[in-house]
Amino acid sequence: MLAIIQARMASTRLPGKMLADIDGQPMLWHVVNRTRRSSLVDRLIVATSVNSGDDPIVQFCARNNIDCFRGSEDDVLDRFYQAAKSAKADSIIRITGDCPLLDSSLLDEVARIYTTGDFDYVTNSLRYTYPDGLDVEVFSYKALERAWTEAKSPREREHVVSYFKYSGKFKITNVDNPKGAVGEKYRWSVDEPVDLEFVREVYRRLSKGKNFDFGMDEVVNLLCENPEITDINTGINRNEGSFTSYANEPPIPEQVRTLKRSLELKEEATRLIPGYTQTFSKGPLLFIQGVSPVYLSKGLGSHVWDVDQNEYIDYPMALGPVILGHNYPAVTQAVTTQINLGSSFSLAHPLELEVASLLVDQIPCAEMVRFGKNGSDATSGSVRAARAFTGRDIIACCGYHGWQDWYIGTTTRGEGVPEAVAELTIPFTYNDFSSLEKIFAENPGRVAAVIMEPIGVEEPKDEFLSKVRELTRREGSVLIYDEVVTGFRLGLGGAQEYFGVTPDLTCVGKGMGNGFPISAVVGRKEIMKIFNDIFFSFTFGGEAVSLAASKATIQEMIEKPVIEHLWQQGQRLQDGFNVLAETYNVGAYLQCVGLPPHTAISYKDGSEKSGTSTETDPLLIKSLFQQECVKRGVLVSSSQNMSFSHSNQDIDYTLRVYRTSMEILSVALKEGDLLSRLEGPLVEPVFRNP
Ligand code: PMP
Repeated sequence: MLAIIQARMASTRLPGKMLADIDGQPMLWHVVNRTRRSSLVDRLIVATSVNSGDDPIVQFCARNNIDCFRGSEDDVLDRFYQAAKSAKADSIIRITGDCPLLDSSLLDEVARIYTTGDFDYVTNSLRYTYPDGLDVEVFSYKALERAWTEAKSPREREHVVSYFKYSGKFKITNVDNPKGAVGEKYRWSVDEPVDLEFVREVYRRLSKGKNFDFGMDEVVNLLCENPEITDINTGINRNEGSFTSYANEPPIPEQVRTLKRSLELKEEATRLIPGYTQTFSKGPLLFIQGVSPVYLSKGLGSHVWDVDQNEYIDYPMALGPVILGHNYPAVTQAVTTQINLGSSFSLAHPLELEVASLLVDQIPCAEMVRFGKNGSDATSGSVRAARAFTGRDIIACCGYHGWQDWYIGTTTRGEGVPEAVAELTIPFTYNDFSSLEKIFAENPGRVAAVIMEPIGVEEPKDEFLSKVRELTRREGSVLIYDEVVTGFRLGLGGAQEYFGVTPDLTCVGKGMGNGFPISAVVGRKEIMKIFNDIFFSFTFGGEAVSLAASKATIQEMIEKPVIEHLWQQGQRLQDGFNVLAETYNVGAYLQCVGLPPHTAISYKDGSEKSGTSTETDPLLIKSLFQQECVKRGVLVSSSQNMSFSHSNQDIDYTLRVYRTSMEILSVALKEGDLLSRLEGPLVEPVFRNP
């Protein structure tokens, strides 16, 4: 196999890095040396550009007896193609010269899978399971030739493998790290001065003079024992370079669409359905009218179609539950089978036990289970159980917990909730431990439960979760995690597994049924037994179709790398969003926050931007950004819920649409004409400021 190492001297962030010294040798020397150690590489070429700035690379190769090929500076795909053609190669391994910690046995492993399988392109870089900087890509000459012939955009020409990854025309596969996504936290490629400092430190510790033979495992061990080395270069966005290159592409044009049927139905709804819809967050308040569809009628994977047959990439994903994808085959099949057997029965169905055992196996705090339909059933059931168990009445809450009196009375949509009920629930502030301590101090012996979303979009700080756990234990209150969003999303065991803090009770919903109505309260046996006595009982609690959907969904999540996929795609979307927002100078107005499987676009007034005194209404920013996205086929409001069906092509297209919308926003901000660009009224929040 022919290894082609891509190398150039120019780099905006670290000029000349290719020949920078690492432990007495230039960086490129280490990369060549590590590539040569592979048993499957029989030839090696360094491919650089014809630019005179790259002469030092050519001279370095000549001095060290390394074959060197010079080609186009910007059309790197052409450079690769010409290099492979002149060498008459059948299979090519692509290495980049800025990866001096490349692991030769990993290189062999990726090459072996390519040789033994039937793929056009094999890599370990589609998912982030290995550290950035250990990327290996193997492809056939035929595939390279096809990409070279068909790829047109500057991005596809500049990033050699972009066309393999995103065109959907090649048989590709990823080699995942059998140890899981250990690569998430590491950045071993050299882009910034701090990366070079990091790699030099690793070499200094491991080569001990001249033994350059160390591999990935030794580096990981070193970093586990000495985490301060990782700190040298963390905080830099992964693959930032490849995101900024979206800026070189032409903007995505608006689609020609009609919304005729949507608008007719909306008109009819004014007569029949107050508020137009059954769920606030799906209603016309949240989507810019005249531009956004009002009714959707079909979904497949990560895409949905409105009643006028316009297609969109879906990011709300029905507000989170559709975790595998719309009309996902394994779930559709399980549901269809169950429908043919009946959906509701006069006695319990055995599926209750099957799904209950799956929940007990997966969720750390779960010993017993009761089912509901909506998330609100679970949160309200858990609160009633906590009150009955403790004999107390006050509830401390943090986050959103559903539509019922005990919670909604704390919000700006509390009309209709009696004061006597509302005053028994007291909200506290996430990451502000003293705000919870105050509730306990002011209501001694009265707090039945603390119910909280273990994470919203802000990550826990200063041991917040453990402190809440300790406090509730000390005070004899029940700690309830509302994992309606995070359950089966951050991990199979939800946020409690991810953060390693175990509550007494947990509410799950959304993701456990891939869009079918099912939720559950799970928790410690001692407390769950109170469900024998309290009233938590309704006609559809054990409805079998949703239980069948849930069983199929959870089994699929156990068998396939669903959670990893949600993290990887979400990370790429989030990194891309934030890099592009900076590129277009709108980072003070738009930011993608939260953990990758469930991120949110935070719309801000721009006041944190230095030197600006004017503030812009965040809803105006949201309206214009959303309008430009939806016109280009990306349905987004604020939450971005990843599913197992969101493909690389989806993320790639979405980032190109985001880039276009951000550019429009940036011009509008400069010209101060945001409002006049809106094609409908401003979107509104569900909960207004008090
Ligand atoms: N808890 C949280 C954290 C939620 O996000 C939601 C719904 N968005 C609920 C509870 C209530 O769930 P449902 O709307 O299914 O009743």
